[in-house]
Amino acid sequence: MKIVKTDFILTPHKIVSGKAVAFEKNIVDIDDFETLKKKFPNATIFEYEKNSCILPGFINTHVHLEFSANRAALSYGDFLSWLYSVIKKREELVPNCDRLCIQKAIKNMLKSGTTTFGAISSYGYDLTLCAKAPQRVVYFNEVIGSNPAAADALYNDFLQRVKESKEYADEKFIPAIAIHSPYSVHRILAKKAIEFAKENDLLISTHFMESRAEREWLDKGVGDFKPFFEEFLNQSIPANRAEDYLALFEGAPSLFVHCVWANEKELEIIEKEKHTIVHCPISNRLLGNGALDIGKIKYLGINLSVATDGLSSNYSLNIYEELKAALFVHYHIEPVALAFDLIRSVTTNAAKALKINAGEIKIEKLADLQVVKLPKDLDAIEQIPLHILLHTKKPEKVFIGGESYE
Ligand SMILES: [Zn+2]
Repeated sequence: MKIVKTDFILTPHKIVSGKAVAFEKNIVDIDDFETLKKKFPNATIFEYEKNSCILPGFINTHVHLEFSANRAALSYGDFLSWLYSVIKKREELVPNCDRLCIQKAIKNMLKSGTTTFGAISSYGYDLTLCAKAPQRVVYFNEVIGSNPAAADALYNDFLQRVKESKEYADEKFIPAIAIHSPYSVHRILAKKAIEFAKENDLLISTHFMESRAEREWLDKGVGDFKPFFEEFLNQSIPANRAEDYLALFEGAPSLFVHCVWANEKELEIIEKEKHTIVHCPISNRLLGNGALDIGKIKYLGINLSVATDGLSSNYSLNIYEELKAALFVHYHIEPVALAFDLIRSVTTNAAKALKINAGEIKIEKLADLQVVKLPKDLDAIEQIPLHILLHTKKPEKVFIGGESYE
């Protein structure tokens, strides 16, 4: 048994003062420190100084670890320029991210309080490292390919990777699938993979309506994607219609990444089907895609999860950086309320999206926790969520399933 004593608990639905948390693998009790000490006399005690706060560990639902070697190799500012640069550089970027590079990315996420992450794997190179990561991992085997002639070969390669990942499945490593996007995956291939996921009860993630180019291409077969598909892939019509693509996910609550250019009707379907929108504000900004209207997402009652995306479109996998960016991108929303919502987006909302029993400080939830230090002169307790985002680069301590990490 371990007991953590801090001044505050961010549950994260409310801020609690004067209580401590007792846990093993799961949270066992939340009560006065003295009561807990009497109840569990042999517990290891972690007592923190003034203005410390315990909150759930963060859940980063969307990262591409295989692209972690990128620093400044890719072209930012415009989505298509970026995509061309990925195609040009990936032959060196992907091999340049060796085991050490992936391990470093996993470690950096742990140090910045990320206790669960969703890894989108294009090649399976990150499989064994994700399987033995200290964090909980949902491992999304990705399928891509818009050319129907190659669909069978691509599907078999995808199935093989899913099968391999299933060999590592355990309590902390959950195999899942990713369909790259409606513009890059042929409808027959997407349909087969989604049906497979439904039959095998696997979670699904997909990029959706990330750029203006995607909107124009899928709606009308025009825009920046037209020359891209004609020249690169010898294709003159889009692989899917957005509405048909969305319909494939019926009955399987999934993660829809970006959605910056999703229209009203698509958002209504996303809400109705209980999908989650994954919001990556830094990636959207750097690739020239604009900003998601998160006020509308909240108004529509859609589950929102903030994530970093990969280092192919970000400078850091520290989710505190992402939350800070979100705070300033969405400048028209009152900052204290927004900070509270953003913390929930990487705890309770993300846990719901990934179907894991964490993201909340509540009896019986998994003890995936972090302790942060707030400034000594903290005055208004109700502003704690905002100050956590403003003043934290990394937590003092991280616990995963009750195990302690520095
Ligand atoms: Zn992505």
